[in-house]
This record gives sequence, C-alpha cells and structure tokens, in this order.
Amino acid sequence: MDDDFLGMLIVSALIVGAICGRIGAILAARKNLRTWAGLLLGFFFGPLGVLLIAVTPSNPDPAPKGMKSVVCQTCNARQNIPTDDQIHDCWQCKRQLTPSL
Ligand SMILES: [Zn+2]
Repeated sequence: MDDDFLGMLIVSALIVGAICGRIGAILAARKNLRTWAGLLLGFFFGPLGVLLIAVTPSNPDPAPKGMKSVVCQTCNARQNIPTDDQIHDCWQCKRQLTPSL
C-alpha cells in the first residue's frame, strides 16, 4: 500500500464521515434527539450510524416554558399542563390527572 493510496483512503473516509455526520445531526435534530450524538454517530460509523439514528424512535416535543408534559394513565394521551398545577383534568377522557413527573 503506497502513501498516495493511503492518503486518498483517509481523505475519502473524512469526506464520508463529514457527510454522514451532517446527515446524522439533521436527523437527530428532527427527532428531538441530541444533535451532537447524531453528528458523532454519523461521523464515526458512517452510513451505519445514520441508519441507527433513522430507526431510533423520536422523542416527544418538549413542553413550552412554564408547562410540563404528562401522560394520562387512563387513556395514554400526552398533554401539557402548567408546572404548578397539582390536579388537572385530561382533555380527552376528562379524568383527573395527578402529575407524577
Ligand atoms: Zn385521559
């Protein structure tokens, strides 16, 4: 293996890593996952890292400021309630929610 071939191999790996890292970061951001983790997975593992991010389930959207996200134990509906609310009615099944988060 001569030096030219080795140099081409390293440059190719860096280019593929940069492209896959960018794709991984974009995918991770769209799925509410950690963007830097998507970047590193794509960079170091290439297409396999991108595939891993693609099959990872998305995180739910974060609750707005001053709200927290809770899931109803009865109907499994996710909803945002004010952080200082201790008791709240579920919008779907109208049962009382007792936030445990
Ligand atoms: Zn409910």
